[in-house]
Amino acid sequence: MSYLITIDGPTGSGKSTVSRLLAKRLNYSYLDTGAMYRVVGLAIQKAGIDLQDEEEVAKICNSLDIKFIHEGGSTKIYLAQEDVTEAIREPDIDLLASSVSTLHTVRKAMTRLQRKIGSQGPLVAEGRDMGTVVFPQAKHKFYLDASLEVRVSRRFQERQKKGESISREKVKKYLIKRDYQDMNRRLSPLRPARDAKIIDSTKLSPDQVVEEIIKEMKKDKN
Ligand code: C5P
Repeated sequence: MSYLITIDGPTGSGKSTVSRLLAKRLNYSYLDTGAMYRVVGLAIQKAGIDLQDEEEVAKICNSLDIKFIHEGGSTKIYLAQEDVTEAIREPDIDLLASSVSTLHTVRKAMTRLQRKIGSQGPLVAEGRDMGTVVFPQAKHKFYLDASLEVRVSRRFQERQKKGESISREKVKKYLIKRDYQDMNRRLSPLRPARDAKIIDSTKLSPDQVVEEIIKEMKKDKN
């Protein structure tokens, strides 16, 4: 488990950027588990299934054909033959992913898949419950956080870059709602693992956070 690094944290804490950079730097694979919940949300939406229909939700999860294709620095995500890289980042999927992730059937299937991937080699696993539930035995655990205003700004800028016309207030409202849902659900709520190192990225660049993580990992070694 010394080749497993878990990075958890709320929306806009910088997890994805940092995890990607860290994986590249260490030559590890990178697993974006949020993308997995997003794909489940999209698949359920496409199939027009009611979230309360556990049997149908289970069928979707157990037959989910999801692929991460890494090409030239970026990752494409496929649901069966379809490239869903952009579709899973749509604002309605933000909240849908958060809702499907409260379901036991969904978490059970995703946890199984994530552990399988974790057994295949050095990995930076990013999400909400990597250090607490999926890989509790990982040696290196981190929890990224940042002030609400900075997290909102990061998300707002992302949306603007994509050319979306959404107000900062609306971005803030959705972010607070999603984090509340993620932190207060019964199953695998977002929280730092007891043995996770908490890093506040409010005033740090992604590269500085990576440096901080590497410094901590070296301490763990001694
Ligand atoms: O990280 P990202 O914003 O893409 O995650 C989308 C949603 O997936 C989160 O809001 C959360 O509800 C869910 N998720 C989760 N457990 C994880 C990763 C993501 O419940 N390990």
